[in-house]
Amino acid sequence: MLSNLAVRDIETLVHPYTNLAAHRETGPLVLESGKGVYVYDSNGKEYLEGMAGLWCTALGYSNQELIETAYEQMKKLPFQHIFGGRSHDPAIELAEKLKEIAPVPISKVFYGASGSDANDTQIKIVWYMNNALGRPQKKKIISRLKGYHGVTVASASLTGLPNNHIDFDLPLPGILHTSCPHHYRFAEPGESEQDFSSRMAAELEEMILREGPDTVAAFIAEPVMGAGGAITPPAGYFEKINAVLAKYDILFIADEVITGFGRTGNMFGTTTYGLAADTLSCAKQITSAYFPLSAVMMNERVYEVLVDQSRKIGTFGHGNTYAGHPVGCAVAVKTLEIYQRERIVEHVRSVSPTFLRRLTKLEEHPLVGEARGVGMIGGVELVRDKATKASFEIKKGVGPKSVLFAQQEGLILRAMGDRVAFCPPLIMKEAEIEEMFDRYERALDKTLAWAKAEGLL
Ligand code: PMP
Repeated sequence: MLSNLAVRDIETLVHPYTNLAAHRETGPLVLESGKGVYVYDSNGKEYLEGMAGLWCTALGYSNQELIETAYEQMKKLPFQHIFGGRSHDPAIELAEKLKEIAPVPISKVFYGASGSDANDTQIKIVWYMNNALGRPQKKKIISRLKGYHGVTVASASLTGLPNNHIDFDLPLPGILHTSCPHHYRFAEPGESEQDFSSRMAAELEEMILREGPDTVAAFIAEPVMGAGGAITPPAGYFEKINAVLAKYDILFIADEVITGFGRTGNMFGTTTYGLAADTLSCAKQITSAYFPLSAVMMNERVYEVLVDQSRKIGTFGHGNTYAGHPVGCAVAVKTLEIYQRERIVEHVRSVSPTFLRRLTKLEEHPLVGEARGVGMIGGVELVRDKATKASFEIKKGVGPKSVLFAQQEGLILRAMGDRVAFCPPLIMKEAEIEEMFDRYERALDKTLAWAKAEGLL
């Protein structure tokens, strides 16, 4: 029996990233409030938040300092744009902070409102920059299969997932996808992680040579692939990729939308995995998701080209109304202050061994082919046969079913096909981490019983 709210939802909303046909039957999970690492539905049921919303509520759901900061900024200056050289305190302060903590030398910051628009900005800057440098043929951008970079026309083109392309007439021409560096899935039998990484780098180089190095402008990658299934890179991967990009003067864009601000056990995933990034995109945890805000951080070389171009043609013709929104920037400044004061990176490092121990222990379960993670992000791969790594038919929905059982157990997770992600608020404590995995173990047992009853095994 659907609740009144659920019925009203079905009658009014088109949900993002939802099976719209199934939703008409099942209706929504209506969440009403949150406290710390817990959220509560409209019946008062409590859920442990295993996904930090959508990889973003690092400080949980009831951080009074963030709420008060937003309120105070709303009272003082609820909006001002930063077009035409206008500015305000929070935008400047945040940019200074970001420069201070950036994992690679950063010269300037450009604001947006979402991860998608940050990556759109990255693409536009790459194109603009290469026109300015008098090499208009150097425009192609390479991303990776299973990479996730957003949903705007251009950032969805970067995304390497079929559902973001099929019937949307994407990807755009000039955006190419190289192999996904998932060792468990794509390594040859007996191939070491280092050898697999070398093969991935060689494939990238072959693609660049095939296309013509003078036509390839940039490469974009997440330090840990998020929506593709929480996939950590194999040993040596980024070191080898860096070398290929440097050889052909190809810009490296690090998409830190999920990994930025402590998630991997360093402030940035770029540090954890040694990406030689020229520019970075961040969003989500920059405000602990209490306000929509994104930032592109660019190095001096990129910035100087933009300035030169302005000398020639005038205005840099890009930016949106909410770029540098004062409330978002003030909340971000406070968020970064809390991360530093509360030593969030040290906290992640101290609880990560428990997180990873419990995560990898899931591999003992008959349904789990691989469990992988770093810091406080991880993924499990559900399989029909562990010996052969054979998958279930994707339309049987085994991953989503396990997430539904987790929900019954009072745990929120996210399934991407048969890959299930764990990405809890960074403030989660050890006892809550243990509880999270206890709940998912029970959910997996229920999934196994269900799969047997359905004849899937
Ligand atoms: N890049 C990455 C790595 C992401 O995980 C996401 C969102 N999950 C995006 C970009 C897009 O961000 P948004 O949904 O805010 O547009």
